[in-house]
Amino acid sequence: MTLKSLLCLSLLCGSALSVEALAKDTSYPAAEAQTLDLAQKAIAIRSVRGEGNRTGEVAKLFGDALIAGGWNASDIEITPVDDTAFIVATWKGSDPTLKPLVISGHMDVVEARREDWERDPFVPVVEDGILYGRGASDMKFDGALAVSSLIELRRQGYKPRRTIVIEFSGDEETTMKTSAIIAEKLKNAELVINVDGGGGALDEATGKPLYWTWQGAEKTYADYRLEVTNPGGHSSAPRPDNAIVQLSQALLKVGTYKFKAEQNPITKDYFQKAAAFADKPDIAAAMRAFSANPNDAKALATLRADPSMVGKVGTTCVPTMLGGGHAENALPQRAFANINCRIFPGHTKEEIMAELGTVIADPAVRITDVTLGSVASPASPLRPDLMTAVTKAMGKAYPGVPLIPSQASGASDSMWFRTLGVPSYGLSPSFSKDSEDFAHGLNERTRLSNIRPGITYYLSLFTDLTK
Ligand SMILES: [Zn+2]
Repeated sequence: MTLKSLLCLSLLCGSALSVEALAKDTSYPAAEAQTLDLAQKAIAIRSVRGEGNRTGEVAKLFGDALIAGGWNASDIEITPVDDTAFIVATWKGSDPTLKPLVISGHMDVVEARREDWERDPFVPVVEDGILYGRGASDMKFDGALAVSSLIELRRQGYKPRRTIVIEFSGDEETTMKTSAIIAEKLKNAELVINVDGGGGALDEATGKPLYWTWQGAEKTYADYRLEVTNPGGHSSAPRPDNAIVQLSQALLKVGTYKFKAEQNPITKDYFQKAAAFADKPDIAAAMRAFSANPNDAKALATLRADPSMVGKVGTTCVPTMLGGGHAENALPQRAFANINCRIFPGHTKEEIMAELGTVIADPAVRITDVTLGSVASPASPLRPDLMTAVTKAMGKAYPGVPLIPSQASGASDSMWFRTLGVPSYGLSPSFSKDSEDFAHGLNERTRLSNIRPGITYYLSLFTDLTK
């Protein structure tokens, strides 16, 4: 047996890089094994919305692990809600005057069908140092890592001054009903670490860590229905007003309208730092120019023309669905469209709906907010205490890797806290190649080389924020 194959018996069998790079690091045999064990067991539990939803069993899996790790059973609450459940587990700190640190995640996953996947999505498989299965990256692995790290902290004899609450919602991917309940229950928190946001990028060729992003803000998701109705009539006798034509005119206006360019401290810093990793020189130049001056028209035009950048410079609204008419030979009595918006932090859904009304400028076009499960949320502040703790933790786990703030275009559980005034940050220490990002998609995966540095990072971060 060679040394390499001996190493391959350990959890971190994978690329030569991960084995060598981590060999000098501290190891956590129990916590490393537990991370993989919990992640695999969680993936095997089909926690998908609807018939046969087993999210409650994932809650029990994590709850039992915490109890075995020293938590009082009375400090673990598992609450069923509709076909799902959520878990809140408390580790009491010695100083009751300090507001708790909340560690947040979710247990549900997006549907995955056996016939679409190369492997059964609900049978975890480890191959060449990579864990495959639905939830491997979003976010059962990250949940298992956070739970195992907390248990490790307790195993090492740590006693927090500040109470640590770990909570996992049960419907983040769908209705977010449990997410809203949890945020309301924990709105007294000092701050929230969302382990389902942020993360690092690995170089496609070498697999070396390139940079790590943390998420401090997210855009608000909104859907508006545009609708034109009239009495219609026979198509041989057209009326001056036509519902389809009126709606089309409104859609043309929406399609060409640009919301004002905006920036906040997080996106300003993002453009400045991420420019170094842009693959096209014109995009890199535009990112730097926009960071320095959000009114730079040339930079703005370049960024708006790039689908991966346009969402970072302001609110976007785009028609996504269309319907109308009821017969080939009848004037349409109804025409409708859905406008999907991603609203820049700092604006309400009402404000953007009113702006769309001004753009369309036709009282015959009725606009209604039909958004489900989304609230507007402000960007979280760049807190020096958090930044210091995060920089130190990342420095221990991945020395020299640059840290870049980011604003997400979608919605996570963080918005439910931010909307209540509790700062929340996506701080996952998991790294992957862009080409390996299969969250919500096929053959979802995560690298086991994330385990050891992930534990190093969490031990440092959790300690610094609660000691
Ligand atoms: Zn997620």
